[in-house]
This record gives sequence, C-alpha cells and structure tokens, in this order.
Amino acid sequence: MEIVCPIDEKCASEVSCLLRPPSPLQVQEYFDQLISTRNCHGIKVKQISERGKGVYAGMDFQEEELVLKDQMLAGNQHSSNKMDCLVCSFCFRFIGSIELQIGRRLYLQSLGDSANDKCHMGSSSHASEDCYNTDSSDMEDGSYMKNHEDYGNCAPGSSKDNISLPKGFIESLMNGELELPFSDKFPLPSTIPCPGGCGEAYYCSKSCAEADWELFHSLLCTGERSKALSRAALLKFIEHANGTNDIFLLAAKVICSIILRYRKLKAAHLEEQGKTNANSKSSNLSLLLEAWKPISIGYKRRWWDCIALPDDVDSSDEASFRMKIRELAFTSLQLLKAAIFDSECEPLFSLEIYGHIIGMFELNNLDLVVASPVEDYFLYIDDLLHGEKKEAEKITRPILDALGDDYSICCQGTAFFPLQSCMNHSCCPNAKAFKREEDRDGQAVIIAQRPICKGEEVTISYIDEDLPYGERQTLLADYGFRCSCPKCLEEEP
Ligand SMILES: [Zn+2]
Ligand SMILES: [Zn+2]
Ligand SMILES: [Zn+2]
Repeated sequence: MEIVCPIDEKCASEVSCLLRPPSPLQVQEYFDQLISTRNCHGIKVKQISERGKGVYAGMDFQEEELVLKDQMLAGNQHSSNKMDCLVCSFCFRFIGSIELQIGRRLYLQSLGDSANDKCHMGSSSHASEDCYNTDSSDMEDGSYMKNHEDYGNCAPGSSKDNISLPKGFIESLMNGELELPFSDKFPLPSTIPCPGGCGEAYYCSKSCAEADWELFHSLLCTGERSKALSRAALLKFIEHANGTNDIFLLAAKVICSIILRYRKLKAAHLEEQGKTNANSKSSNLSLLLEAWKPISIGYKRRWWDCIALPDDVDSSDEASFRMKIRELAFTSLQLLKAAIFDSECEPLFSLEIYGHIIGMFELNNLDLVVASPVEDYFLYIDDLLHGEKKEAEKITRPILDALGDDYSICCQGTAFFPLQSCMNHSCCPNAKAFKREEDRDGQAVIIAQRPICKGEEVTISYIDEDLPYGERQTLLADYGFRCSCPKCLEEEP
C-alpha cells in the first residue's frame, strides 16, 4: 500500500502552486538578477525551447580562461567525509592547521579501529575533548560507524594495516603542542565554533558563522541556542539521515533556508503593512512562493522517480524499489517535521515537495570537492632538498605511514549550483568544472576547455566523455535524455 502523506492532501492546492513551473519570464528575471548580483557578466542564461535552459557566453573566452565561479545555493559535506577533513561548514574551506587536520583524522581513525576491534567507544576514549571538541554525538550513537560501513572501501576505515602512532603524539598534534616542520607554509584559518553551541559546526570566519546561522543552521543546530522546535527530534532526524542517506541533511538545509527566508519576508511585510490584515492565508502563500523561488527554478523530478536503479536491483523489482525509496523519504520527513515544523510553512512538509527537493540534487548531481592542504604539505616535504628533507621526514614519515595510502582526502559532498546546473551536456564540451590552485572553497569553477566565442553555448560533460558511444548514452539516460551532440551524431551506429 502506498503511503499517503496527510500534508499532501491537506495542502494540495498550495503544493500545486509551489510546483507550478515558473514562466519563462520569471526564469529570465531570476537569472538576470542572480548574474548581476554575482557580477558574473561573462555569461547569460537563456531559456531554449525543448532542452530547457542553457548557458551562453556573453563574451569571448580563451582556452583555460575562467568562465564562471558559481556560489552554491546549498551544500553539505558527506557524513563519511567529516572524519577525514575539517572544513568550514559554510564555505567548505579547510580550517585549523595542518597538525589539526592530520591529528584529528588519526584520532578518529583510531576510534574507528578500536570500535572495529569491539573495544569500547564510551566517553572515556574521548581523549580529545580537552583540546578539541570533535563531533562527539556522531560517535556516541554509533552512526558514525554505520556510515562508515555504508561507504565501504571509500572510507579510510581500511586503516587496519596502517601503523598506528602513540596516543599522546596524536593528541599533541590536535592541541597544537606539536608543530610539524614547514607547516607554517600552509596556514589555515583558525576554527570558529558554531555560536549555537552544538560543537558540530565549525567555521573559517565570523562572517561564515553568521551567514550559515542566518541562512540554514539556526534551525538545524543541536546546541543550546538552536531555533529548532525540539533538539531531541532533530538528533533523531540527523541519526536517521546518517544511517540511511545523507542527502536528507541537504534537503533539510534547503527547507530550513526557505522557512528562514519566509520569516524574513514576513517580518518585512508586517512592518510595511502594519499589523492589520496582514496575516491572511493568501498573503502567507505569496510570501512562501517568493521564498521558494530559487528552488522553483532548480527542481525537476521527484527523487523516487528519477533515482537511477542500482545495479543489484532487478528491473522487475523497479516499482517496489521506487516505493521503498519514497517510504524512506517519508520516514525522514516525519522526523524532520517533528524537529522544525512551522505551521505557516506547512506545504513545505509535504512528501511531494520533499521528493522534488531531493530529486534536485539527484538529477543535477553536482559534486562538491575541495582539495586538501595536507596533500600540498606532504608534497612540499617531498620536494625539499636532501638534508632538509631527511630531517623533516624523521617526523613526517611515521605520520604518512599511519595515514596510509589515502594520506590526504579532499573534502567531498553534494551541492546545488544554480548557474552550473543550467549548463547542458555535450560529449565534446567547450568547458569543464575544474578547481585551480587558488580555488580553495566550495564554489564551482568553470574553465574554458577551448576558445569560446561570444554567443556560443557553454557546455560541460556530465559523464566521462571518453567512454564509447553506447556507454555514454546509457549513463546519460539516467539524466533523462539522449545526447545528440556533434560527437554522438557522428558516432551513432
Ligand atoms: Zn568559511
Ligand atoms: Zn550549531
Ligand atoms: Zn554526446
């Protein structure tokens, strides 16, 4: 039996208003404004007939030239990646110090190992609490391990073979007592804890902390100053997401951002109108529609409709697989609702809306990647001249051995980039998403792969464009289209 979400029924007309596709004019206005506030004047977004939107060059670009830097609408570091790198929860820049990055990871790795050995993971093993407040709640409820198992070989849980370092040494890395040679060449912004007191979110600057609080985190913070309805319910929601699919955390971030934007619009509206007559249902809906606008431009299909069928699911089981995904989303949504429900934003808690928000990340599938300074550090040591190198390696070699093959893991997550997501695919693209040496935060960076003329469409490849024709088309089918780029037309059998 298919689950019926009560809010889908109760708010049916509001939900259909929210899901009504914006008119081409509204789309155009939105992007023109976005481009002008962000000063990315090199490009234009245009609505093109059947293929939807496209990005066009507003000027000539040379090969390797920067076409666009795109600030994300919302993004999240993968739960499993949180033990590997400590980044700003807002801009995803690495923070702390090289020592902290390494020490923290070795520490969390050792916790994982001792858990694997069925050792205790109780509070007594929280050796780091004095010097550095780690994501303790993640570990106490065991969800951190669960995630680890889910991600299998991708996570550095395979540290069993690595040589471990003395506990005291790891602690002195984390608390700043031990300074590694030449680490001062790789300074990182110091960590600023979340002002809400959750001890989970850290920032590179006060402005990132404030922006995150205002846009998302005040409703998702599990600390004392949280604006959530119930911190206990919020913890349950987070635990469920960490144990199943961390895409729910990102969807929750989007919902929080809409609620917070709505409240701001409402406050401004009340001030303008005076308190009389302002609380009508219709004016609330129009404010909600306004707050929803950035999402209305981005969403396409519901998650359970667009998620690619995993290889291990037989196509005859497709219907039941999709139903299970929908049920999972419903469970997650109920937990989220218990944590942050706002009656004036009730339609946002419908399963239809939740499904569309998650689907937005599924379809646009945009990876958030930030390179690790730990890698640069070890490369620098490796490049030192003989004497210096030998001296430095006395300290760094055992650390490298302890970290193992994946000694530096980049920050990985998922994010929605409003402009990049408008770029169409081509198997012979003229641009690519590429982080340059200086691109050290979570913004998407698009570089010209060959000269692009003013007026030409800017295209990127969603897949590995060097795959054979058939494989490309199969992969692109998950995005819901058949590619008819020049390369495909030529190679079509
Ligand atoms: Zn930041
Ligand atoms: Zn917080
Ligand atoms: Zn193609």
